[in-house]
Amino acid sequence: MELSKRQEQIIEIVKSNGPITGENIASKLGLTRATLRPDLAILTMSGFLEARPRVGYYYTGKTGNELLTENIKRLKVQEYQSVPIVVKEHTSVYDAISTMFLDDVGTLFVVDEQSCLIGVLSRKDLLRASMGQQDLTAVPVHIIMTRMPNITVCRRDDMVLDAARKMIDQQIDGLPVVKAVEGGLEVVGRITKTTITKVFVELIRGNHI
Ligand code: ADP
Repeated sequence: MELSKRQEQIIEIVKSNGPITGENIASKLGLTRATLRPDLAILTMSGFLEARPRVGYYYTGKTGNELLTENIKRLKVQEYQSVPIVVKEHTSVYDAISTMFLDDVGTLFVVDEQSCLIGVLSRKDLLRASMGQQDLTAVPVHIIMTRMPNITVCRRDDMVLDAARKMIDQQIDGLPVVKAVEGGLEVVGRITKTTITKVFVELIRGNHI
């Protein structure tokens, strides 16, 4: 996270004088307490400083890298999951390919009549199915999908970091976010490598720390 010149000055003052009140930091900088309020809020929210009631601000001693790591470990799947695109088990391979294009996704989840997860379709699954001479409008996706129980899933309160690890370990591009319901798992979201790329960029921009 990029700190402003004034925020750097505040950190230096607190490092050498902490614990120190907001009032005293302001007077050292020749500013009013009100002017400093947003900077102090940013510095405490991001973890550089801690505020103790009636004592004042003190320096936590954490480096930018430590704070970044702490923040990454705190991110939950539910904050970042996107809308899952699902198809029914009797959908044809042809229609699944159209859905993949229309919804601009790389992974489709296959559900049964009760909307429970039964399979996953990747781009290559569909490419492979398209290489033979079959009529793609006549082949249902349940013939070619990767099926339960071999599907790697995650849940809304899992950590994004754990979801990312699963994708790397299993060498897959996406995970369904699921919720246990009677009769199976309902698909409530999806986490993909694109999600992780977005998280990475947001963190570096400082939106989350
Ligand atoms: P691609 O096949 O286009 O490279 P993936 O790497 O995601 O895309 O998929 C590799 C294989 O893993 C495919 O056969 C796919 O069906 C399967 N797969 C994809 N996602 C999962 C998942 N969450 N759990 C289990 N298998 C999956």
